Amino acid sequence: MREEELEVALKVVIVGNGGVGKSSMIQRYCKGTFTKDYKKTIGVDFLERQIEVDGEEVRLMLWDTAGQEEFDAITKAYYRGAQACVLAFSTTDRDSFEAAHSWKLKVENECGEIPTVIVQNKIDLMDQSVVNPEEADLLARALGCRLLRTSVKEDVNVAAVFRHLAARCLAEL
Ligand code: GDP
Repeated sequence: MREEELEVALKVVIVGNGGVGKSSMIQRYCKGTFTKDYKKTIGVDFLERQIEVDGEEVRLMLWDTAGQEEFDAITKAYYRGAQACVLAFSTTDRDSFEAAHSWKLKVENECGEIPTVIVQNKIDLMDQSVVNPEEADLLARALGCRLLRTSVKEDVNVAAVFRHLAARCLAEL
């Protein structure tokens, strides 16, 4: 008799202010591409990628807010059933950093406590940074989350974000 194949599927929500690189991150991770003027895909709720973590196949479904965050109008459907979260801010956008706390609360309200990674994106623009590393570390500690610094543009640490979340979720199963 063949062993039944078990596949773990995880819904991951990516939150944070507009312009921090959320759609770009999903596109980079699932399609391997980066474009400066990525137009959000209309009609597609999420992109997916399958990875292996500790010998287990994990299918990650990465949900894009598709610009809804601009209007503080992210629907309940976006959050429903989410098992992990990427909370992103941009190192060149102070407001996006300041907003991280309320994003965390919003996710907690909708999803409860789920594994969350704080992402400081656009580190290729560190010379224009308005968030110093210590502040970002403090924020992550205050929110009880791991912090990862990424450049979606240069493909630095993007895979690590999702590997970390997948491993955390598997450990909780
Ligand atoms: P979203 O509104 O959070 O989904 O942000 P987008 O993915 O639309 O990205 C906003 C802008 O930031 C786009 O012009 C992207 O090309 C750019 N961007 C995203 N990630 C990076 C990065 O790591 N470095 C740089 N320099 N630009 C980035």
